[in-house]
Amino acid sequence: MVKITMSQGAGGERMQEFIREFVLKELDNDFGEIPLAALDDAAIVEGIAFTTDSYTVKPLFFPGGDIGVLSVAGTVNDLSVMGATPVALSCAMIIQEGFPGEDLHKIMRSISATAKKADVRIVTGDTKVVEKGAIDGLFINTSGIGRRSKALDHDIREVRKHRRFKWNWPNDSAVAAGDVLIASGAIGNHGVAILSFREGYGFETTVKSDAMPLNHLIAAGLKVGGITAMKDPTRGGLANLLNEWSDKSKVGIVVREEDIPIDNAVLSACEMLGIDPLEVGNEGKVIIAVVPETAEAVLKAIRARPEGKKARIIGEATKEVRGVMMETHTGGKRVVEPPVGDPVPRIC
Ligand code: MG
Repeated sequence: MVKITMSQGAGGERMQEFIREFVLKELDNDFGEIPLAALDDAAIVEGIAFTTDSYTVKPLFFPGGDIGVLSVAGTVNDLSVMGATPVALSCAMIIQEGFPGEDLHKIMRSISATAKKADVRIVTGDTKVVEKGAIDGLFINTSGIGRRSKALDHDIREVRKHRRFKWNWPNDSAVAAGDVLIASGAIGNHGVAILSFREGYGFETTVKSDAMPLNHLIAAGLKVGGITAMKDPTRGGLANLLNEWSDKSKVGIVVREEDIPIDNAVLSACEMLGIDPLEVGNEGKVIIAVVPETAEAVLKAIRARPEGKKARIIGEATKEVRGVMMETHTGGKRVVEPPVGDPVPRIC
């Protein structure tokens, strides 16, 4: 009998296969402008962006955030990377009996504060309490809706000044050769912060999670215009994101190792643990593909935001290679493979 394994929920290639076999096959998956089958960050249905995410992070509290911050930021970001303006969220909690009320208050305060920061409202929800052993403490699911904005209309017009573009929203399939890739900041912090805090790993680091809503930063980029695709490098990290784009957009991608921002503390933690920072999940970063004509202006607008101070151009889409290639520090070339599983499970 087939049994579901951890790697099938890890955001890498196994998860993609798993979703195709168990989910897409059983459902009508082509409804909407960006349908379920696109496996993008949100669906676009009747002109509205719609997404959902469940949060099972372990531990619930970690350096730089908690499950409450994550459950709002993650869903806000999945709407924002479609170019949508997040409007409202649902929040459903599954709570294990015996869960400390004080912790629940803390988490609810984080949810409230993060929603305020992102300028979204929680408008509906659900609570269930289950017996001990049924789950591990607390799980949260949030769904969200987002709408079109003038900035998004402007963005798409700007793209069309420079090339043919059949889409009305930035999405994973819309990257084309020549597009410049911008990272909004240093990668790897969230996964390393979770790992460093988990029992059993016993190493100390000052790395904090980057979990935060990115809708205001993304809005600044859309106002400049020319953005063709955006994605948050969550499970599977940057390596997974670039491979998803390359695959769905049928375009090669080249990135330069020296231009990918990674904090020294993250680098040394990854080295010690034998994991690739490119495969580590982030919760407050976005990768932006933009037409070359407006790339510098988009970069400047993002760097003007406090969340985007370390933003950099990390590479571009190209016809010159197949898949994803990284030019290394030493001048060599390395194929960036999609991660099979996740080096750090249950980070979100
Ligand atoms: Mg996402």
